[in-house]
Amino acid sequence: MLVDYHWHTTRCGHASGTMQEYLNVARAKGLTEVGFADHIPMYWLKSNKIDPELAMSTTELPEYLAEVELLRRTNLDINIKLGLEVDFIPGHEATAKKILTALPLDYVLGSVHYLNDWGFDNPHLIHHYQEWDLLELYHCYFEQIRAAASSGLFDIIAHPDLIKKFGYRPQKEITEIYRQTARVFADSEVCVEINTAGLRVPAQEIYPSLAFLKLLHRYKVPVTTGSDAHKPEHVGQGFKEALQLLELAGYREITLFNKRQKSYCKI
Ligand code: ZN
Ligand code: FE
Ligand code: ZN
Ligand code: FE
Repeated sequence: MLVDYHWHTTRCGHASGTMQEYLNVARAKGLTEVGFADHIPMYWLKSNKIDPELAMSTTELPEYLAEVELLRRTNLDINIKLGLEVDFIPGHEATAKKILTALPLDYVLGSVHYLNDWGFDNPHLIHHYQEWDLLELYHCYFEQIRAAASSGLFDIIAHPDLIKKFGYRPQKEITEIYRQTARVFADSEVCVEINTAGLRVPAQEIYPSLAFLKLLHRYKVPVTTGSDAHKPEHVGQGFKEALQLLELAGYREITLFNKRQKSYCKI
């Protein structure tokens, strides 16, 4: 069995479909455990800097929690978890912590979407890749993702090699970067997300890559799965490929979350 723990909602301003429609697709595909993990309000920005097309607003957060709760009561055949996708922004850890500890979450997905102020996964900002030496960029990205894991804020590190999204890859081998990162993930006791959205973008590959996932397995880092659905048809997409990838890397079980506690389940 695989879970789909990474669903967005229209509240983030760049997703479509109703939350019930996501559940209907899950039911049709035979998924029995799923979770919403919409983008947290942009807690690190002053209100006049907030882009309504990137995340829900602060006032939408309680509505989001209430709708998940309602859907739980009306879809009793599916385990519906309450998650949130939370940006890791160095210097703003205390604010994130304060928000997260007050919420009844099953898990927190931690994401690096920004390097300094550059939203490197934003299709409107691709031109900035030209300004970087790609090896240096990868070092910078992975340093940030390790800091995210070490912060202790997150249960799951989402799309752990998101920096490959648009297909910009360094020429040189980066096995040592993967190894160092796997070690830090293991020490931090975070779980890593197998995120199939990489198949829908120029990277044309699940996050993380097989080479990275093999090292994660060697360091005994637990994993979970998600489609990063931004519309109902994304639900469960690429899960056949995810299963193959998990098997190739040596994984036999995935991690489930309840009230931020881990348990393990045979794949
Ligand atoms: Zn999104
Ligand atoms: Fe993300
Ligand atoms: Zn993103
Ligand atoms: Fe996401």
